[in-house]
Amino acid sequence: MFLPDEVDVVIVGYGPVGAAIAGLLGGYGVRTLVVDKLPDIWMSPRAIALDNEALRILQMVGLPEDAFAKEVIPQVRMHCPLFGEFARINTAGTVDGHPKLVTFYQPELERALRDHAERQLGVTARTGVEMVRFQHDREGVRAVLRTSAGYEGVVRARYLVGADGASSSVRTAIGLDFEGTTYGEDWLIVDAVGVADNIDHVEFVCDPDRPTPHMVAPNGRTRWEFMLRPGETREEMEKDSTIERLLKPWANADEIRIERKAVYRFHARVCERFSKGRAFLAGDAAHLTPPFAGQGLVAGLRDAANLAWKLAWVVRGRASEGILETYDQERRPHAVKMIRLAKFMGQLVMPRDHVRAVLIHGAMALLRRIPPARTYFEELGIKPENAFAEGLFVRGGRGGRRGAWFPQSTVPSDAGAVQRSDDLLGPGFSLVGLGVDPAQSLSEWSARHWSRAGGRSACLPGAEERGWCLVVRPDRTVMHDGPVAEAERLVTESLRLLGAPAA
Ligand SMILES: Cc1cc2nc3c(=O)[nH]c(=O)nc-3n(C[C@H](O)[C@H](O)[C@H](O)COP(=O)(O)OP(=O)(O)OC[C@H]3O[C@@H](n4cnc5c(N)ncnc54)[C@H](O)[C@@H]3O)c2cc1C
Repeated sequence: MFLPDEVDVVIVGYGPVGAAIAGLLGGYGVRTLVVDKLPDIWMSPRAIALDNEALRILQMVGLPEDAFAKEVIPQVRMHCPLFGEFARINTAGTVDGHPKLVTFYQPELERALRDHAERQLGVTARTGVEMVRFQHDREGVRAVLRTSAGYEGVVRARYLVGADGASSSVRTAIGLDFEGTTYGEDWLIVDAVGVADNIDHVEFVCDPDRPTPHMVAPNGRTRWEFMLRPGETREEMEKDSTIERLLKPWANADEIRIERKAVYRFHARVCERFSKGRAFLAGDAAHLTPPFAGQGLVAGLRDAANLAWKLAWVVRGRASEGILETYDQERRPHAVKMIRLAKFMGQLVMPRDHVRAVLIHGAMALLRRIPPARTYFEELGIKPENAFAEGLFVRGGRGGRRGAWFPQSTVPSDAGAVQRSDDLLGPGFSLVGLGVDPAQSLSEWSARHWSRAGGRSACLPGAEERGWCLVVRPDRTVMHDGPVAEAERLVTESLRLLGAPAA
């Protein structure tokens, strides 16, 4: 098996996060090697839900709309034996051009991500190849790789990304550790095909005797997650007879096909830092969340979007190495907030005893009668915004825009149809003028340096804010903003922040 001697970035782990990073790096023109010790995609039942942010990142990676099947979820309902439905989350509609919540089949998404990454010039993907150890110093990274046939080779790289999952050996090698708690409860996950009266939404059966999230998935699939009771064992729970009994309220086991089943223990843990020296952690290697908010893979995709362009801009000499520090600064606080949300959802779903269940579900049912509280919960006000307090953006500005995501809209395309604005902006930096062309406000010198730093200009409709101008990073975070008359200053300050050679 051919392994390159030298690349810009080596990615350890070709799960969904490693594959997304490889696809992004390839798109940015970075020579990348991605390896996975397994021969093929891991088939266990894992992620099932993605939100609009994840879908926007997959658009950024370059996956077409139909790359994998999705089931749009209009609502998440929570009910319990005592109060019936005590809470609901409205997930109908779209944000930034994507449904707020969909379910999907993880192996199909992983296949699409791998196919896309491998189509990028400069990306080499190798499965059945384990990263055994690595060193990193001022000169670069030297990673020792071993193929399944026992051949060992060394690859040199400028940076290494550990997207190697929960038991990350990259994390251990750089001496970082997880902080946080491990849930004592185990859960049985069952995926089945062919349930006759499938629901069209996600429901949390919040019965303290047996909490059971239950949801529809594409292509006739259904998932159930059953919390194990004290004394129940993995072996006993994974038996066909047990699953048949558990599924009784929903389906006859002989009329459906059990596709996958597995018992998991969930964790709520974050690594103390997401990078050290030339090594970066992403996905489950950096953070683990219980799945009650459906945010584990979503957080990993946010890592991918945040890290890939920074590595690419440094490798291609468009930014100084210092910007890589902002990966941890921006991503870790948000990952912590999402884990807190998942723990909160977990307390709703799985109160540990009947007294707590009555108190928690009763309080939720009461809050539902107070319109502002109801709206806050139902319209996802509890979900932390993908915005940074600190990081690679010019602090200040009005409306808290800087450091937050630039919204996506639809715009007329050259061919007379409509296209999504992210597709119009493309993969680099954008100087966006709302209702005006900002390029006209740039001097020849700035325009040249902006272009060298991977920047371009675009005009997007902005009826209410005509004349406003924003610097948007490749990951769609707003870096700077101001009146279009000051576009020259916005560009110069942004280039300086990047440490771009021209600045
Ligand atoms: C039951 C369950 C339900 C979930 N539901 C959701 C959900 O609804 N929504 C959501 O967003 N997330 C969910 N998640 C979480 C989601 O599945 C994970 O966050 C995601 O799969 C992690 O992807 P990853 O690429 O970071 O890691 P992984 O998929 O674990 O990939 C890591 C890869 O690294 C490889 N590797 C490890 N060590 C080495 C080495 N030394 N050399 C080479 N290769 C190596 C492994 O073989 C593996 O393929 C759920 C998880 C579970 C368990």
